[in-house]
Amino acid sequence: MKGDIVLIPLYSSSEGNSTLVQVNGHSILIDLGKNCKQCTIALQKAGVYADDIEAVFLTHHHSDHISGVNVFMRKHSTPVYGTKPTLAKIGEAPAGLFHPITEKSVTDFPEFGMKVISYPTYHDAAGSVVYRIENTVTGKSVCVMTDIGVVTKGLLDFCNGCDGGLFESNYDEYMLDNGPYDYMLKKRIKGEGGHISNVECGKLIEFLLAGGTSKFILGHISPHNNTPDIARNTVVTHLKSKGYLDGTDYEIQTASRFEPVKGIEI
Ligand SMILES: [Zn+2]
Ligand SMILES: [Zn+2]
Repeated sequence: MKGDIVLIPLYSSSEGNSTLVQVNGHSILIDLGKNCKQCTIALQKAGVYADDIEAVFLTHHHSDHISGVNVFMRKHSTPVYGTKPTLAKIGEAPAGLFHPITEKSVTDFPEFGMKVISYPTYHDAAGSVVYRIENTVTGKSVCVMTDIGVVTKGLLDFCNGCDGGLFESNYDEYMLDNGPYDYMLKKRIKGEGGHISNVECGKLIEFLLAGGTSKFILGHISPHNNTPDIARNTVVTHLKSKGYLDGTDYEIQTASRFEPVKGIEI
């Protein structure tokens, strides 16, 4: 039996991001960052038809989050939600498909028992947001928070008390410092407009655990400056030092760059 909320990252990394969220059996996507065919195949693997996607919500206009959306929305007549700077980068849309939202918006789908709430980040694309998706029947919720840049007090308040989610664990500090990127790119990744590290993700999850969140997926894991095992081990080790035990106090997965993972049900 599927849960009231299902969250499955279809793929997640700087090569493309898309996350399936289902609430009371209604499916939406957060981001669509590989081409339409790749997204459709990933959806099939997750047991969902592309035609059944009720809406796509976009976090920001970097290509690893939007590259497939134009073709997908035309092929499947899918409504697309995003801030104005994000929608502006996609180009023209058939009438009625674009739905501009603000950086702090609540989009209500009463017929699905679902709300999608946005919150701004400092990531270096104008109009960047993260999302919290609520089941308005049960009060449960999940967050999709990648490309964060910096964890602000406002962001902590935004995600506090959710039941689970996908959280950015982009880089290992040692690997980034000693890896192939040039100085400016390393500086960008570490800065407020970039990404958060495994250590910063561990601290974010520590905060969420204290508020009752228990199901975590680590995502947007860099293929150059991180590995899924290093991301997971860093976060688990940090949480253990704070008294939280993997498998007892929480469950944690890593998203794949290539295909859907098991995901979480709430
Ligand atoms: Zn990204
Ligand atoms: Zn980005």
